[in-house]
Amino acid sequence: MSEHRHAHPPKKVEIRVKALESLLVEKGLVDPLALDELVDVYEHRVGPQNGAKVVAKAWCDPAYRDRLLGDATAAIAEFGFKGRQGEDMVALENTPTVHNMVVCTLCSCYPWPVLGLPPVWYKSPPYRARAVSEPRSVLEEFGVRLESHVEVRVWDSTAEVRYLVIPMRPEGTEHFNEIQLASLVTRDSMIGTGIIKPPESVQ
Ligand code: FE
Repeated sequence: MSEHRHAHPPKKVEIRVKALESLLVEKGLVDPLALDELVDVYEHRVGPQNGAKVVAKAWCDPAYRDRLLGDATAAIAEFGFKGRQGEDMVALENTPTVHNMVVCTLCSCYPWPVLGLPPVWYKSPPYRARAVSEPRSVLEEFGVRLESHVEVRVWDSTAEVRYLVIPMRPEGTEHFNEIQLASLVTRDSMIGTGIIKPPESVQ
């Protein structure tokens, strides 16, 4: 299977995929059950909840944070999150002065083991072009307004590397445990197109 998956592929492509799948199964090259299993894993079982656990642990455990920043692939694998599109992970930590944002300018490279499949907008040509040329405008459209002193760093996933943004831990969560913290972490915050707002109870 190609990494270039689309949520709403043109009909012609769907037909060609189906035809190809039938042929591979017929020739005994592909086990249809294995194929269904693979699709099910990435559509339903692997998603941003994985990345959220990684982020929450990094917030709670300074030693884990250091391991994550030092070798993200290994630190993420401590949770058992590994495999396709996650073989060469790099963690990017947001700080009060640096905001990281991830794009794949060429196609749709995305860290599947921690975030699941990419959202449609991530694969869209406007995001891929504008994330690089006018990142602050794009961020504003996502509702992220950064102060002018904050440096925006845009990371292009076109090589083997896949990125996970560690968003800033929101204020008022000092007494939250890892599970409570993980529930606050959004997919977009781990791509860098979102920030995590303080939980409503403490606003
Ligand atoms: Fe790509």
